[in-house]
Amino acid sequence: MRQRSLRPQLKRNPLGGYDLTAPGGPLDPIILFLAWGAFIGGGTLYVGRAQIVTEKRRRFRLYAHVSSAAFALVLAVNLPALLVLLLLPGVLAMDLLTIRSARFCDRVGHVVIELPWRPPILRCPECGAPVH
Ligand SMILES: [Zn+2]
Repeated sequence: MRQRSLRPQLKRNPLGGYDLTAPGGPLDPIILFLAWGAFIGGGTLYVGRAQIVTEKRRRFRLYAHVSSAAFALVLAVNLPALLVLLLLPGVLAMDLLTIRSARFCDRVGHVVIELPWRPPILRCPECGAPVH
């Protein structure tokens, strides 16, 4: 029988233990997931609504920094301090790389992410307008 090989996962949890990430708990995975989705959706809207390239770049930069800070915070809560210190330069590098590789077209409808190993993008692939 295949079903017999399933691990009895529930038996491992000690009865009466308080699990912060249990369903209904303060860090319910569903709530965290919804909060993360709202954060991404809100940030995308905030950046997308900018009317000029300079404003879009400013908003994109702000959103990238806030995302990185939130990610660093999640790491800090969940991982040992030494590991977090080792990971922080990586998070910062990702943040700067994301901002450096983002280009916005003159019509401001499109965001283009340049890849470091590809030639630079000069025109928007979607509408042909120059990107900055
Ligand atoms: Zn475009």
